[in-house]
Amino acid sequence: MDNEVRAIIDSLEHEKKISADRLRYIFMCDDDDTKEYLFQTARRTAQQNFKNEVYIRGLVEFTNFCKNDCYYCGIRCGNAKADRYRLTEEEILSCCDLGDELGFRTFVLQGGEDPYFTDERICHIVKAIKEKHPSCAVTLSIGEKSYESYKKYYDAGADRYLLRHETADPEHYSKLHPAGMSCENRKKCLHDLKEIGYQVGCGIMVGSPYQTIDNIYEDIVFMQELQPHMIGIGPFIAHKDTPFGNEPDGSVDHTLKLLAVLRLLFPKVLLPATTALGTADVMGREKGILAGANVLMPNLSPTNVRGKYLLYDGKICTGDEAAECNMCLRRRVERIGYHIAEGRGDHPDFTDCYRSF
Ligand code: SF4
Repeated sequence: MDNEVRAIIDSLEHEKKISADRLRYIFMCDDDDTKEYLFQTARRTAQQNFKNEVYIRGLVEFTNFCKNDCYYCGIRCGNAKADRYRLTEEEILSCCDLGDELGFRTFVLQGGEDPYFTDERICHIVKAIKEKHPSCAVTLSIGEKSYESYKKYYDAGADRYLLRHETADPEHYSKLHPAGMSCENRKKCLHDLKEIGYQVGCGIMVGSPYQTIDNIYEDIVFMQELQPHMIGIGPFIAHKDTPFGNEPDGSVDHTLKLLAVLRLLFPKVLLPATTALGTADVMGREKGILAGANVLMPNLSPTNVRGKYLLYDGKICTGDEAAECNMCLRRRVERIGYHIAEGRGDHPDFTDCYRSF
């Protein structure tokens, strides 16, 4: 056991603080017993707040059109090879109907920044889902919008919003995105969403090009200031038809360590074991849960479009029916001693907060 790192983990658990240097020690630690001590401590913290329950969210990837050109993303507008699609409102609703039958109580509508989906269309879809499935939560993940747009979606019934900030460092941000997109606006969007009343999720890719440990430390500082309800992190995985096509993938080891660190810093936060983690390592999602994660986001999108929503290469579960994915995940979770929770899986601060429309 590395006693120096063990002491850092103990202080992280009790004081809920970390410095850039301490984060560096944890990232550099290669001792298996110490790593297991980190994961065990994070797991215990997750279990104190969520028992052995894993929350599930049904993901509906409803459009892969995007007006933006983020350098790391397979559906960026500059990728002429992407096979574009949009789901109709009826198709989105039937994904939610199927999800409801399978036991999902949260639907995540995720898409690129697609101008076809005007505020009016988004509000119409959100209202239609809420009318058919009033006990379900609707999460939107459709990028940067104005305060007014976010407010309209919220008033239409959207409960949660996911917007990964990608990096809190403006210089790093400018290396991942073309001119015209800014770190400042991204952060403003997250603050707007919180102010409106959404349960908000931010997040980063671990090992994105040019990322340093100091950058990750800055991300943590930003998260401590924002206090998000959910933090989505997964390893960077290159997509061959992007400017970062030849960049090395992010480390699974670093992703798991960061999940554990985040669990200790934010004991109640909703922390997904992401599909990217499951893509980088066949047991990645299980390892994520055992490092303190407590959310899984299986796909409810129709199988004929799944292989087209490729933000990165090699994405898993693109050929399986939603029901198969659901069964597979339930088995995987049970094998490691956990079970899928029933219900919407709100952040603990929101559990008695049903909104009526
Ligand atoms: S990361 Fe999001 S905003 Fe950027 S190109 Fe991809 S879908 Fe569009």
